[in-house]
Amino acid sequence: MPSSVMPTSRKGDGRSLPDAVSAIGLRKSYGDKVVLDGIDLRIPAGTVFALLGPNGAGKTTAVKILSTLVTADAGDLHVDGHDLTTDPQAVRAAIGVTGQFSAVDGLITGEENMLLMADLHHLSKQEGRRVAAELLERFDLTDAASKPASTYSGGMKRRLDIAMTLVGNPRIIFLDEPTTGLDPRSRHTMWGIIRTLVTSGVTVFLTTQYLDEADELADRIAVLNNGRIAAEGTADELKRLIPGGHVRLRFTDPAAYHSAASALEEVSRDDDALALQIPSDGSQRELRSILDWLDSAGIEADELTVHTPDLDDVFFALTGNDQPAQPHQSKETVR
Ligand code: ADP
Repeated sequence: MPSSVMPTSRKGDGRSLPDAVSAIGLRKSYGDKVVLDGIDLRIPAGTVFALLGPNGAGKTTAVKILSTLVTADAGDLHVDGHDLTTDPQAVRAAIGVTGQFSAVDGLITGEENMLLMADLHHLSKQEGRRVAAELLERFDLTDAASKPASTYSGGMKRRLDIAMTLVGNPRIIFLDEPTTGLDPRSRHTMWGIIRTLVTSGVTVFLTTQYLDEADELADRIAVLNNGRIAAEGTADELKRLIPGGHVRLRFTDPAAYHSAASALEEVSRDDDALALQIPSDGSQRELRSILDWLDSAGIEADELTVHTPDLDDVFFALTGNDQPAQPHQSKETVR
């Protein structure tokens, strides 16, 4: 497809930009196993896109294909306006890839890793040293620059990996599970880095199994399940796909539980836990009416929790998985 007829997106300033990534009918099988069963993806330039899916869903395969490391079986695929099949070189020049298959060499120092990348990108010695120093500083690695990368923490290695990717000044960055295995502080640092990247105009294609990460970072999210995109949209759009929230009342006194359960009409009961779920949007008005009703009926609940649907609910509803990819503190399953 000539670039003039590539799908385009409009930025706020009215300019039309080609989509950073456009995949139509992307297919890939390994032997009998269909990994990607004709998926469509469209990522406007300058945005963060999250491909969300359980382990083995095909996220890494999609990244490897779109970053030219693996060949697709079929699909009309463009990255930065270049056709992946006919012009992989131009695609490679426009992208950076980090994550599961990190380029960091543990035997040499952080600075040497950076200078190696500068060499690969044909920067002069002087320019290479300048860019390396600037990026090491930006990613808070200056103090560790002369230590072997094998001595770095997980978070430092990921930061070095991204810094190395940026030597080539990519317009599109693929981040394959950038925070898997990181401690909470390093995750937040990484989120900050990703937001800064986008502010500088880079398009980010992120894969993650963490729903809060997609919710936090992505402009648009696609949920990959069984080789297909089960749903695609903003976090809010996805949350609207499933039934609304509820208020959960828990009792210790069985008599109070039973009188509340019989008095309330639209309620789901959990007789074992002595808990009731009342459909609710969690608004102040609805909460007040529930509390007023409890008071007027003389019923005292031991615990009242408000649950608004989150991406976890969407994810489990769409993928049919009943186990979260990771424990999620604030989650309650909608029954
Ligand atoms: P994810 O990144 O979502 O965890 P992957 O893309 O790594 O998923 O894998 C998707 C499926 O494809 C898995 O079942 C995996 O075993 C299979 N797969 C991935 N790479 C290969 C390969 N080179 N050969 C055979 N099967 C593969």
